[in-house]
Amino acid sequence: MSPNPKAQIRKPAERVIREGLFVSEGVAGGPKLLASTCEACGGVFFPREAVCPVDRRDDTLRDAEIAGDGVLVACTTVKRGLPGFDSPYGLGTVSLDAGPALIAQVEGAEDGPLQIGTRVELVIGQIRKDKDGTIVVGPKFRRHGGAEVDDG
Ligand SMILES: [Zn+2]
Repeated sequence: MSPNPKAQIRKPAERVIREGLFVSEGVAGGPKLLASTCEACGGVFFPREAVCPVDRRDDTLRDAEIAGDGVLVACTTVKRGLPGFDSPYGLGTVSLDAGPALIAQVEGAEDGPLQIGTRVELVIGQIRKDKDGTIVVGPKFRRHGGAEVDDG
């Protein structure tokens, strides 16, 4: 029996929030962020840079995939978001083990912020929806091992 593609339930359209930010399945497995590393100063930059912000050189940067493991250094719960955002949702600042820090949505912080210092991991998921219902996906974070941890 081969499945009839026309009988499949139509999934909502999806698009990535911005090209060149992440890969869903990196070389080492799992989602990874697309960063630049600098051979001169050792800096790690996310998103990718064309010129090293430290050295102001354009010949020392190399593309790199970095892991999205890090520590939550700030977290809040957005009770009423802008149109397109499913509220409430968590928003946090994550200091990545790889170096850079970024602000992103935090799963599991819908009912209140997660504790500062919580270990988090990168997931690729819905950030918001376009007016036509297209799901916009991008990098976000959840408690490390979040899928397996039972908070009860
Ligand atoms: Zn540099």
